[in-house]
Amino acid sequence: MPALFAETALLPQGWADRVRIDWDAAGTITAVTPGAPAQGSAERADAVVPGMPNLHCHAFQRAMAGLTERAGPAGDDFWSWRAVMYKFVAALEPEQIAAIAAQLYVEMLKAGYTSVAEFHYLHNDPEGKPYADRAELANQIALAAGATGIRLTLLPVLYQTGNFGGAAPSEAQRRFLLKTDAFNALVESLFKALRGSRHVRVGIAPHSLRAVPPAALREAKAALDKIDPTAPIHIHAAEQTKEVEDCLAWSGKRPVEWLLDEAKCDARWTLVHCTHMTADEARRLAASGATAGLCPTTEADLGDGLFPLVDYLAGKGRFGVGSDSNVGVSPAEELRWLEWGQRLLHRRRNLAPAPEGASIGGTLWRASLAGGAQALGQPVGAVAVGRRADFLALDRAHPCLAGHMGDGLLDALVFAGGTAAIRHVMVGGRWVVREGRHPAEERIAENYRAALRRLA
Ligand SMILES: [Zn+2]
Repeated sequence: MPALFAETALLPQGWADRVRIDWDAAGTITAVTPGAPAQGSAERADAVVPGMPNLHCHAFQRAMAGLTERAGPAGDDFWSWRAVMYKFVAALEPEQIAAIAAQLYVEMLKAGYTSVAEFHYLHNDPEGKPYADRAELANQIALAAGATGIRLTLLPVLYQTGNFGGAAPSEAQRRFLLKTDAFNALVESLFKALRGSRHVRVGIAPHSLRAVPPAALREAKAALDKIDPTAPIHIHAAEQTKEVEDCLAWSGKRPVEWLLDEAKCDARWTLVHCTHMTADEARRLAASGATAGLCPTTEADLGDGLFPLVDYLAGKGRFGVGSDSNVGVSPAEELRWLEWGQRLLHRRRNLAPAPEGASIGGTLWRASLAGGAQALGQPVGAVAVGRRADFLALDRAHPCLAGHMGDGLLDALVFAGGTAAIRHVMVGGRWVVREGRHPAEERIAENYRAALRRLA
């Protein structure tokens, strides 16, 4: 059976030295032995930490990152960005979506994400008609994940309306739209097609309360429950103040409040953003067991606002990080901005709650491993028996980690450019990045460049 000998490794109980990690042919860890002898056939690594789950991603948006940073005629905001995104999305062909996703997933693996929850909302062809195979575009995502080796939680998106209260969708939203029956059939077909894969899990993503009427939300969840009553459910919530105002006007409740009251969100749920919550919503969301999906680089890029982290963590709320629009593709960058945003807001330092002397980088990395694993609904996020062998091997000889040990390595990773020291990356017991390189990265990058040339 394959095994790895790590000079030091981050285990659930803390850092341990001379750790032998064994896993089975399916990539599940079967033994973790600290203080083990180095002899034997086990391969050697320096410092091993669990790879990070990315709990929120729209892969195609990677190809428009950097293209929306030009001043518009007046007052750019989230909504003007969305208008540009809709134009971009109108032209994408299936093979371009696969090429963009594959390039993105290689970048993610090299940066320390070992799994990704793809919030996949492109279903129809450029005219808004269904493809012969409803799952055509979802299949492209699964293919890209398979080609790169990243673990996938595939979340087909339900999208029906243009705003709260059943407003008609716009022409620009035609590629996203599915009736509830068609959506449920898509979900069922993905479950069938991906059954047996140890790399892929299927859930659902009602896009938002703007885009999904309550009856459709209930019906989609009921259909999912018949197939898999533990499958993850993700939804965007309270990203923008206008969304909160519109939700209040529609229902008398704020988005997170509505979801907690009406959808009874629990540990299966991930509420993405939750940027605009009252202290009471933050307390209730924390108590619900749901995960808050935080995407600080996208939230900064789009001018969303800052998540109320201090209130939320005071209630022991769960969170993970996501790359969302993929302007940033690094878990360390998301966590750094999560903490830095709070420092800028409160004009103090080290705001993630931690006992005296505890590492902030370590606190954030551990919390987002746990929240990310819960959000993806996969046994990942820890070097422990029964979890998948999804690791990063850090090179402590790299200058950016010099002088660091234990959680200091995670502080360097998060706050001091330490990602340059991510040397090898393993998913499901197989190295997908070695010496900082993915074996297919040149071919994937060429496909990506070709896709962008055609789009231009
Ligand atoms: Zn999103």
